[in-house]
Amino acid sequence: MAENLLKMFIHGEWTEAASGETRNIVNPASGQFIAVAAEGGEEDANRAVAAAKSAFYQGGWWGTPAAERARLLFKAADLLESRKEEFARLETLNNGKPLREAEFDVNDTIACFRYYAGLATKPHGQSYEVSDPMQAVVVREPIGVCGQIIPWNYPLLMAAWKLAPALAAGNTVVFKPAEITPISAVELFGILEEAGFPPGVVNLVLGAGASVGQTLAAHDDVDKIAFTGGTDTGRKIMQAATGNLKKISLELGGKNPNIVFADADFEAAVEYALFAAYANSGQVCAAGSRLLVEESLYDRFIARLVERTMAIKVGPGLADGTEMGPLVSEAHLNKVLGYVEIGKAEGATLLCGGSRLTGGEYEGGFYMEPAIFTDCEPSMRIVREEIFGPVLVVQTFKNEEEAIAMANDTIYGLAGAVFTSNGAKAQRVIRKLRAGITWINTYHPTYNEAPWGGYKQSGIGRELGTFGFEEYTEVKQINTNLAVEPLGWYSS
Ligand code: NAD
Repeated sequence: MAENLLKMFIHGEWTEAASGETRNIVNPASGQFIAVAAEGGEEDANRAVAAAKSAFYQGGWWGTPAAERARLLFKAADLLESRKEEFARLETLNNGKPLREAEFDVNDTIACFRYYAGLATKPHGQSYEVSDPMQAVVVREPIGVCGQIIPWNYPLLMAAWKLAPALAAGNTVVFKPAEITPISAVELFGILEEAGFPPGVVNLVLGAGASVGQTLAAHDDVDKIAFTGGTDTGRKIMQAATGNLKKISLELGGKNPNIVFADADFEAAVEYALFAAYANSGQVCAAGSRLLVEESLYDRFIARLVERTMAIKVGPGLADGTEMGPLVSEAHLNKVLGYVEIGKAEGATLLCGGSRLTGGEYEGGFYMEPAIFTDCEPSMRIVREEIFGPVLVVQTFKNEEEAIAMANDTIYGLAGAVFTSNGAKAQRVIRKLRAGITWINTYHPTYNEAPWGGYKQSGIGRELGTFGFEEYTEVKQINTNLAVEPLGWYSS
């Protein structure tokens, strides 16, 4: 067994997979192996759930004062901050994203831990004025054991979005990162250990979705499952969760509209259209992957958009000046390139990009040129399906009403944006958008304080903010009789 094996963390101990299996972890920038991780399975997931259950009930975590939970989370944030450059590099190494994006992620992660550390000690209950002599209050309690499963596009930040609110609310957790990007999660659990979370409160299981993930989703002793990932996987999780009717939160995919009116600030709208579509190589659930441009602006806008897209510097995430990194894996790159072929076959016009980049600094890595399709019909797969890569599809609209109808013509409802200098129009359009996260004259800003999640098939529930905290609580009403005497309901 390799000395530097990335291990799982179960009941306060670092452990190999029960099966002894391992997985090679790849650097998307070069295709080279950078680590070996334990490949857990059902047995490991079961052991982690047992540890989390025992820590919650017998270990005394349930009932740990909020101030102590806050202290541990603040400590974790401080430890992370002291190693933030190292974490950013690890994130880039494993996921491929440019270092400047990884640095944002690490800062957001630290802020997320601090936000929930602070929230843990704030008032959460309610009281009601009911008829005398009764008193009714509502308290929030932890749900119990939470299974948490995340994707590979924001390995560290998604971990924080899951772990911080769950722990702040007093739950124990079994956490599973994506099998191809475990590195920053393993390091983060080292920090949680150092911060002093008691054994069994935080458990990390590495491995595939079909084994570890499915076990967590189906497990009778997991009280809640929180999942971020693809919509089809979300459906499987939901089905698996029916056995014990566990609580579920799902953060799923999107095909998000970015609407640009002719009266928008031209250069700002162009640059945000690029940022919306190509940040993190387009591997963002909230990516503005459908650009809707007002017809009268179209020619000028597209010319500038293509010019600037072709100038984007694609390269290794650690290289100076890189603006877009590789895709996360060869399999994912092939899936995205497959969509480029689908778009061409469907009759859309590929205006630029769409090819794999090879040779020189690209050798061995999973790079592609950012692509733009025009002449897109609403029925095309490239317009309807989430591509999750740097492929932008462009459509035109004639007026406000048509823009709204086109924007909402999707099974998804995660995010959307509008660019216009007319404030009232911006409000009208955003209010009509069937999506949970919206922006006016900007794209992508995300705040720990504000709820994140989607309408329609983009998910169930919300993360972040007080909404995200409440998703990790049960609500209990406590009714107290302040004048205790026999009821007098029965005659004898
Ligand atoms: P994915 O659904 O394939 O995998 C996500 C996670 O689920 C991984 O950890 C994987 O191992 C696990 N998994 C896979 N099959 C499983 C199963 N049957 N049971 C339990 N767990 C299983 O998604 P991905 O390809 O890693 O990530 C891309 C997707 O994630 C995109 O669709 C994207 O939109 C979505 N996403 C959504 C948000 C959001 O907040 N809404 C954020 C990031 C990513």
